[in-house]
Amino acid sequence: MQIIYDSVRPYLLPLTGCQDNSTADQKQHSRHRYRSCQVLLASAAHQTKAMGYDIERFVGYVNDGLLCCICRDVLENPLQAPCEHAYCTSCIHGWLVHHHNCPEDRQALDLSMLRPLFRYMRNDLNRLQIRCRNREHGCEMVCSLESVDRHERECEYSRIPCTNASCPMQVERRNLEAHLAVCEYRSRECLNGCGYTILNADDTHHNCVAELRTELELLRSEMICKVEEVRHEMESRLDSQRRHMVQKESLLKNEIEELKSQMSRVMSDVRTLLAAERLHRQDLEQAELEKRELMELLKSLQRDGRAGSNIAEGGVRKTSGTRTLARLDSIKRKPREVTVI
Ligand SMILES: [Zn+2]
Ligand SMILES: [Zn+2]
Ligand SMILES: [Zn+2]
Ligand SMILES: [Zn+2]
Ligand SMILES: [Zn+2]
Repeated sequence: MQIIYDSVRPYLLPLTGCQDNSTADQKQHSRHRYRSCQVLLASAAHQTKAMGYDIERFVGYVNDGLLCCICRDVLENPLQAPCEHAYCTSCIHGWLVHHHNCPEDRQALDLSMLRPLFRYMRNDLNRLQIRCRNREHGCEMVCSLESVDRHERECEYSRIPCTNASCPMQVERRNLEAHLAVCEYRSRECLNGCGYTILNADDTHHNCVAELRTELELLRSEMICKVEEVRHEMESRLDSQRRHMVQKESLLKNEIEELKSQMSRVMSDVRTLLAAERLHRQDLEQAELEKRELMELLKSLQRDGRAGSNIAEGGVRKTSGTRTLARLDSIKRKPREVTVI
């Protein structure tokens, strides 16, 4: 806007500066040039879309009093000068940057003199029927000027930016869902089936093979870690079992040694007993023998006794008596083997 004001300034200056001493022709000419400036300003206003509602959008007759003196469109956020000329807020603010008068009748004007529009005019303005600005895109909505802003904020034909960050697309609100389904910036799984989620369309560097290789490396290192863990656990378990077995083995060895020594003691006892038994048996045999000898001796003594009573004191009896005593002595002298176990 600033550029446009600067470009039309040479046309406006003669009008304000030489108004009094110019001829009617010049005035007419100046007015004509002034009008063309206004048209220029108005077209600039349309380009920036900052001021006025395009009169073409209205249904039915629009009173001239409801048009902006600067952009010639229907007043948007109107303000009124003491001269009762009305302008869009942005139009008159722009004008007063370089001028200090009403653009319509040149009466002195500054920002502090601007007032809201008369109530009856505001009501007339609010009741005007206007088409939705998205009419060219298909919206058939016609509503009061008062409510058109609300409608346009929610209009299904309004163009809104795609909700995916970094997507440059602008789509009609009603088409947003369909766009999101195909938006190149949506996060989606790789179409080649690697399972990787691609976050946006610039991800052209995505390489399935590299991605899968990285994944594989990750899995492999995880696997190696797990295998190492299991190996360590098994080794420690085996170690403890081995230690346990060694202890057990030495215990068993000790027991075996103990049993062996017991066994050898038992064997020697057995041997001693066998020897003792043998001796005992010999003793028994010996005793048997002695008994038989004694029995014989006794019998012989009985025989001798009977013979002695018959034959009185004789040398024969003496001899046999001596022999018997000697034999008794030899029996007595035989040592008795006593086995102590
Ligand atoms: Zn205006
Ligand atoms: Zn005025
Ligand atoms: Zn609409
Ligand atoms: Zn998108
Ligand atoms: Zn992939």
